This record gives sequence, structure tokens and C-alpha cells, in this order.
Amino acid sequence: MSFRPSRRRDRRMMGRAHSLARLNHGLTGMNPSVGCIILDSDGHVVGAGVTGLGGRPHAEEVALDEAGAAARGGTAYVTLEPCRERSQGGKSCSVKLLEAGIARVVCAIDDPHPVANGGIRALRDAGIEVRIGLGQRESRRLYRKFFASLL
Ligand SMILES: [Zn+2]
Repeated sequence: MSFRPSRRRDRRMMGRAHSLARLNHGLTGMNPSVGCIILDSDGHVVGAGVTGLGGRPHAEEVALDEAGAAARGGTAYVTLEPCRERSQGGKSCSVKLLEAGIARVVCAIDDPHPVANGGIRALRDAGIEVRIGLGQRESRRLYRKFFASLL
């Protein structure tokens, strides 16, 4: 990373990720509507995504597709923990973030879903810097129904 992470930028980018997440709130079926912003290694926004209508694709996939090679060495902001595994095959978002070469992940809240949970741990185990908890209040509000459905 050629720029220093700043708390102010982190807050601003997580705010943008939450704005994206709200766009499809209630329209993503059983999946929560997640927002994702990708910065390149210089701190420029190179990708943005929200969970697709009906729940696919995931926000991280959309944002990584847009960012392409510019994601390498960059930062990803996500409003919910990137999934560890997919319920229906395919690569999970945590694997895709790793393969894209993302260096740092800022995540609002961990995902209690049994299949998705563990994405943060997988990223940390792979040596990626993860900051969790920024914007957690907004994510808890946004995903209240989703979290309640898992109990
Ligand atoms: Zn995912």
C-alpha cells in the first residue's frame, strides 16, 4: 500500500458502502444486501458493488469485477463479513478477495450465518490486515431481520 490508511477515509468509505447496501435492502431474497467499495493501492475508488437482486452476485464479486487488476494491493470495505464458503458452490468472497490480491479489508460486522462465518479468519490467516467493527451500528440496524432469521 502506497498510502497510509486513515480513520477518516475508512469512515467515509464505509459510509459509501452502507449507501450501496441500502439500495437493494429488502430486494435480495434470503441474502442480506451488502455494500462493497474497493480502493486501489493509491487509495482511489476502483470498484463498487451491492448484492444483486435476489441475492446474487455478492457485492464483493461485483466490486472486484469492476476493479480488475487495480484491486491488487488495495483495500476492500464491506458492510458484512465476506463469506467463507458458498452455499451453492463457486468461490467464496473471501477466496476472491485473496486471489485479487487485496491487502486490507475493513468490515463493519461479522456474519453469524454458519456458512458465511469464518471469512474474516480466513483472510487474517492468509496475512491480510482486517479491521472489523467500523460502522457496526449501521450494519446491525440494516441486517437486524437477517440476523434474527438465523436464530
Ligand atoms: Zn460472498
